[in-house]
Amino acid sequence: MKFENSLAFARLLDKQDPLKDFRKQFYIPKVNGKESIYLCGNSLGLQPKSVEKHLKDELEDWKNLGVEGHLHGKNPWLYYHHFFSKSISKLIGAKEDEVVVMNQLTVNLNLMLISFYRPKGKRNKILIQANEFPSDYYAFEQQVKFHGLNPKDCIVEVVPRSSEITLRTEDIISKIEEHKDELALVMFSAVNYYTGQFFEIKKIAKTCCNHKIIFGVDLAHAIGNVELKLHEWNIDFATWCSYKYLNSGPGGVSGVFVNNYHAKNFDLPRLAGWWGNDEKTRFKMPKHFIPQTGAAGWQISNAPVLSMAAHKASLEIFDKVGMKVLRKKSEQLTGFLEFCITSKSEKSTSKTFSIITPKQKERRGAQLSIQTNKDGKKLFDRITKAGVIADWREPDVIRVAPVPLYNKFEEIFRFAELLI
Ligand SMILES: *Cc1c(COP(=O)(O)O)cnc(C)c1O
Repeated sequence: MKFENSLAFARLLDKQDPLKDFRKQFYIPKVNGKESIYLCGNSLGLQPKSVEKHLKDELEDWKNLGVEGHLHGKNPWLYYHHFFSKSISKLIGAKEDEVVVMNQLTVNLNLMLISFYRPKGKRNKILIQANEFPSDYYAFEQQVKFHGLNPKDCIVEVVPRSSEITLRTEDIISKIEEHKDELALVMFSAVNYYTGQFFEIKKIAKTCCNHKIIFGVDLAHAIGNVELKLHEWNIDFATWCSYKYLNSGPGGVSGVFVNNYHAKNFDLPRLAGWWGNDEKTRFKMPKHFIPQTGAAGWQISNAPVLSMAAHKASLEIFDKVGMKVLRKKSEQLTGFLEFCITSKSEKSTSKTFSIITPKQKERRGAQLSIQTNKDGKKLFDRITKAGVIADWREPDVIRVAPVPLYNKFEEIFRFAELLI
């Protein structure tokens, strides 16, 4: 599509937008009594108006039924994790028994590493991207130490070429091939939190498959943002959080994907608890753990129903929209933002920033990371005062996420006007 950098054109795009009515289903935060331009959905997604009702339903059941809510609630708490299988499996391209909703992201990452990072002899390394999210890095380091190994020897990073910021697929693949006999695991965030780069997960998975290396992905910035086909791509495991693009509230519940290839591999070491036990015998309180098959067998504790109620409300919206339509608008919205920024900054005499997110729409999701040259923090503070909610990353990057469920083209245009 050919864009025009004008308010009238932005309004035309809004008018033609098949998802325009979804914005009304969210609360838009206000600044100085006016609707903000909220571009932080990659950090904390906005609250769907339907969350309150879903939460109230559970509070009512707790109030009126007490413990009986486990079996006789409107949504029996005992089976709560089952309510997500269908929606989540559609979002990430998985079979329903390959997913389970539980815990928080970094906790789940650690649980997955216990099962899938199995260093043996010379094959003891983890390959990751440089500039991985710190929480993930801490988990990798500690897991390596947990096996009595040294992170300095065992964590291999793929680093961008000099004067480049994002990674080239060919460099990732050649790094895997270089270390193929020493790698116990390759683990990648599908979308990098800082640059917004969406990696060629399918190709990386194929290389790992060829060399029989376990491949895990962190979907924190990918789920609800880009289209994924984890089962088809032969990913071994994945984990994510639900409070970013999935709009399920602060500290919202996470989930994991375990490829069915591992569903009945009960020899994999794992942490255990009663919720992962076979549902038929769970309440017979057997002494020894009999894991459920599939991802559900990685559960430990009973379900955090209140946080899951918010998740349920939000996923109903994704069920209605579907990732295909969402992604189509997302590409347009991010493309429009890029267009407005570049066409304005070309005309401006003092070029004060550049976009470090990949230009190719297939290689990014709903995020642009804008690297500022001089006085970036001042610029950020100025747009914040003007009603923009965005994200500042030291030393010099402003991250903005135009989210297709609730952001308008008009806001994108206005943001670019404020920026330049
Ligand atoms: C947001 C994010 C996290 C946050 O971890 P929590 O356990 O949910 O606090 C971890 N890793 C990545 C890659 C993230 O983007």
